Amino acid sequence: MKTCLVTGGAGFIGSHLIERLLADGHRVIAVDDESTGARGNLSGATQNPRFEYVAGDVADRELMAGVVDRADVIYHLAAAVGVALVAKDPIACIERNVEPTRFLLSRATERLREGNDVRFFLASTSEAYGKNPKPVWSEDDDLVFGPTTRSRWSYGASKAIDEFLALGHFRQHGLPAVIGRFFNVVGPRQSGAYGMVLPRFVDAALAGKPLVVHDDGQQVRCFSHVQDVIRAVVGLTENEAAAGRVFNIGSDRPVSILELAQRVIAATGSASTVSFQSYSDAYDADFEDVRRRVPDLTRLKQTIGWEASIDLDGIVRDVISWRKALRAGEPA
Ligand code: NAD
Repeated sequence: MKTCLVTGGAGFIGSHLIERLLADGHRVIAVDDESTGARGNLSGATQNPRFEYVAGDVADRELMAGVVDRADVIYHLAAAVGVALVAKDPIACIERNVEPTRFLLSRATERLREGNDVRFFLASTSEAYGKNPKPVWSEDDDLVFGPTTRSRWSYGASKAIDEFLALGHFRQHGLPAVIGRFFNVVGPRQSGAYGMVLPRFVDAALAGKPLVVHDDGQQVRCFSHVQDVIRAVVGLTENEAAAGRVFNIGSDRPVSILELAQRVIAATGSASTVSFQSYSDAYDADFEDVRRRVPDLTRLKQTIGWEASIDLDGIVRDVISWRKALRAGEPA
């Protein structure tokens, strides 16, 4: 039995990860400030005697030193998320995403120096590729950000700094840190409040309202179910050969946002229509999007033999059932 620290544990991905770690028999400490997550996401874990919830900010060094010092494995997921939120407040994005990561890595390294066996997983993002024009992105491809006057790039750039820090701690100090770049993770408990597209579409379809598609809807994305993503996160963190490396994590099956909207309408049997909104109306005049975002998953598959188990229709069905249950007043 290991003690696992999950930062951002009350969030969408964090809460699923905690359920998996508890099911595997580990002890889990979650830290979350509930800025975008909610404690209610952890209703399945709170009764478990191996689970401990700490309400707090990962920027609180004293608090974090205390929990890192008890952990064998650190899953660092807490971050400023959501393009809409980040575009509005790049200062908070950088403050949340960079210094706490540096501190956690250096504290974990100290524990390693004291002779403890410590592992570290860093949640990064496909946003780190920026707007690289390649049709499929591999981990060693260039990061191609837009200008600093467009604040949405602060998210990818801040996560890229986190990656440099994690790789530096591996190379310079031997900390077994693994970096996972998530590509559009979806599933139950993902909030639509910060611009995430699938819960927004499902809610609109269930309410019989138009599904608002940004720009022309021809942006291409790949959606993966959170359960498949958790399998990759745990598999990589436990794998010796993954330490000190970057991995794309997600689906490699592209779909346009317009097609996603149409699939949601079909799966809900809704009478909703699709309406289009410009980026400047959805965000602001400076907003710039990425047209195509598709990962090369070769490294992930070769390292841990990972394959996705839930396709897009299964994902859409799952999110619909969850949103329906929420609307009926059932717990998350
Ligand atoms: P989420 O918002 O549900 O989870 C993030 C959690 O971190 C929230 O519970 C939030 O309250 C918490 N948090 C934020 N700042 C904190 C702080 N300073 N102190 C303590 N807690 C804090 O989002 P998610 O989708 O579950 O994202 C988890 C991680 O995955 C993030 O690092 C995110 O950048 C990354 N990611 C997610 C996706 C995706 O598609 N969902 C894609 C790329 C990367």
